[in-house]
Amino acid sequence: MTSKTILTVTNLQRDYQQGDSSEVLRVIKGIDFEIKQGEKLAIIGVSGSGKSTLLNLMGGLDDPTQGSVVLKGKQWSNLDPTQRAAWRNKHIGFVYQFHHLLDEFSALENVCLPGLIAGDSKQSEAYAKELLAKVGLAERLHHLPSELSGGERQRVAIARALARKPSLVLMDEPTGNLDPKTAESVLNLLMALNKDLGISFVVVTHDPQIAMQLDRTISLVDGVLGPNLD
Ligand code: ADP
Ligand code: MG
Repeated sequence: MTSKTILTVTNLQRDYQQGDSSEVLRVIKGIDFEIKQGEKLAIIGVSGSGKSTLLNLMGGLDDPTQGSVVLKGKQWSNLDPTQRAAWRNKHIGFVYQFHHLLDEFSALENVCLPGLIAGDSKQSEAYAKELLAKVGLAERLHHLPSELSGGERQRVAIARALARKPSLVLMDEPTGNLDPKTAESVLNLLMALNKDLGISFVVVTHDPQIAMQLDRTISLVDGVLGPNLD
């Protein structure tokens, strides 16, 4: 099976300035990889190895010091801020360890928000309901985040990440805050959504059980890619 490449990372480097000093901390030290359409990729590495930095670069939330990230034929650094936000909203969904839902809005409203921001409320409400049903929350549409369990909140966050029908969902330790049983059910949900919608997933995780179930694992070791573990 040959499938399309949706994201290409080339000679990626990211340096941070250390406070006021002229010292430079090189966190990402020249890495290359690709993601194919529909692929499920795990990124593992010890704390501080640059996993979140890499994810932010992939999603165009941060700029590399050198090298490039190309998503669906467009290089983030060639886009102005407006084009970049539009490209990100169209193609990328983010899920974080903490759900970042808006507390005063219901599950349904939280999932509708990306559509409202993009200016299509009609289609997005129907689709938001469909997504919430897919993540098993058809009976919880009008609950506030405070009225949901941790696993349910993370399911809403996943539904929200899918609301704009992205090509790629980037997840930074999405189950890191959940008990093992809930984490497993969230993982099963991701596998089902991947199969159903053909969306590519990148999951940063500490959990080898999760990494094992995805298509491929890349490990970040001291800013470079470690041995391939697929
Ligand atoms: P991980 O997600 O793998 O735990 P991060 O990508 O968050 O790692 O961070 C990698 C390294 O980069 C860490 O040593 C961290 O201290 C450093 N770092 C992250 N963000 C910044 C920043 N904005 N300024 C300076 N150093 C940073
Ligand atoms: Mg991190």
